[in-house]
Amino acid sequence: AAFDGDDSGNTKPRQTPGVLYSKAIPTPVNKPELLAWSEELAQDLGIEKPTGQKDIDILGGNYVAPSMYPYAACYAGHQFGNWAGQLGDGRAITLGEWVAPDGKSWELQLKGAGLTPYSRRADGRAVLRSSVREYLMSEAMHYLGVPTTRALSLVSTGDKVLRDMFYNGNPAFEPGAIVMRVAPSFLRFGSFEMPAARRENENLQKLVDWTIDRYYPHITGENRILAWFKEILEKTAALMVDWMRVGFVHGVMNTDNMSILGLTIDYGPYSFLDDYDPDFTPNTTDLPGRRYAFGKQASIGYWNLGCLASAIAPLLPGTEELIAVLETYSDLFHEKYYAMMANKLGLDQVTKGDQELITRFTDTLYTLNLDMTIFFQLLIDLPEEVGTEAEVITHFQDSFYREVEAGERTMLFTLVQDYATRLKANTGTREASRERMQKANPRIILRNYLLHQAIEELERGENQLFLKLQAAMKDPYSRHHDELFAKRPDWASQKAGCSMLSCSS
Ligand code: AMP
Ligand code: MG
Ligand code: MG
Repeated sequence: AAFDGDDSGNTKPRQTPGVLYSKAIPTPVNKPELLAWSEELAQDLGIEKPTGQKDIDILGGNYVAPSMYPYAACYAGHQFGNWAGQLGDGRAITLGEWVAPDGKSWELQLKGAGLTPYSRRADGRAVLRSSVREYLMSEAMHYLGVPTTRALSLVSTGDKVLRDMFYNGNPAFEPGAIVMRVAPSFLRFGSFEMPAARRENENLQKLVDWTIDRYYPHITGENRILAWFKEILEKTAALMVDWMRVGFVHGVMNTDNMSILGLTIDYGPYSFLDDYDPDFTPNTTDLPGRRYAFGKQASIGYWNLGCLASAIAPLLPGTEELIAVLETYSDLFHEKYYAMMANKLGLDQVTKGDQELITRFTDTLYTLNLDMTIFFQLLIDLPEEVGTEAEVITHFQDSFYREVEAGERTMLFTLVQDYATRLKANTGTREASRERMQKANPRIILRNYLLHQAIEELERGENQLFLKLQAAMKDPYSRHHDELFAKRPDWASQKAGCSMLSCSS
């Protein structure tokens, strides 16, 4: 442990000025049972699958080994654009660090392990529903190639937790669960905003130095804070582009949910896009503002970087250079964005004209309400000679959620024609272009309705769909799990009220 904290283990909700974490012991649960285990991650970490109850007790927070030092981190944040003051780990407790056989070090953290000084008025717990969502999706993102925190285990607690069910608004008890999350670090932008807001410059300096030494050790020299900020900015821009590539909407991009390592962190009311819609937000708390809608994520990333810049500014001699770095964001993002879209489309370079073509694709996806994932899969299979309008429409039929009108058919047809012409200007082969597309376009995504069904099954004690999703998500670019390659069914449409989730559960 690098810092002095309040070591009392007292969980009374309180402000903790002067400290960056507080000691917090997991509160035991009734009957921890192992529901899921990420074997591949476990092997990377060099951790063996639990065999006895004692191991499962660790994963459920019922046993703290003598080598562990459990704590809850103190951080702050901007929530929905407003300064929220101290937040902190209200239900996450880090047990300690684990050094894997390859020498890399990982934080092991229980989410839903009970009260901490940062629980405020909440209960410190997590329900099975939200835990399954975090467990499956963080692992799925890893296999999609998107930087993310990981999940090692999912444990049911045998306790009931009081929550508002999202589909009928009535209070209801739900089964409790705990996920063991794993990441090199769970530090967030908000971790730096906290000491900055308290004008605790010494703590701020210590935290920044420690973070750079530990996680950005290649950065040295005079201007290292600036160079560090530039790297965070690059990682954040890259993450936004990756989310756009796979159609992921985070849903709560508050600064306390922005990883200092550029990882996807805090899986709450996230969703994949089904029909392409930049205005889509899966978070009911985000209506009607839609601050965290799919199409706004890149600019929110920038806004959040602005908060981080303000936080670290007191450590710099002036703000001019910091602002200059911040202002590189837009160009950097767009460069990465177009390169990513070129990969999705199988273009081996991006000219000015290609940028227009790319925009026509997103306009068409939006105008026709096409299923994003299925559309790009069908695009991979587009014949070299595209044929007639009727043939093109038939080719893309499986990505339609509704009948398309004459003008919309023409919009798609002319786009596909122009695209086919553009593909011929590639310097590489058509096969190379297809391979590029296959790597950039996932075929299997964890659609909200699938998660919803898997969770309902689990609550009834069945795990068939859960296991199927767990297997499929490990291989999202292949055709090996095509029983899950289907668009969202009508009953699960947003209008039917099924895709909306709220922040905390
Ligand atoms: P989130 O919107 O998930 O990022 O959470 C915002 C803040 O609320 C964080 O400080 C969380 O630790 C805290 N929080 C969320 N859910 C709970 C809970 N059930 N018990 C205690 N704290 C919580
Ligand atoms: Mg959070
Ligand atoms: Mg959360």
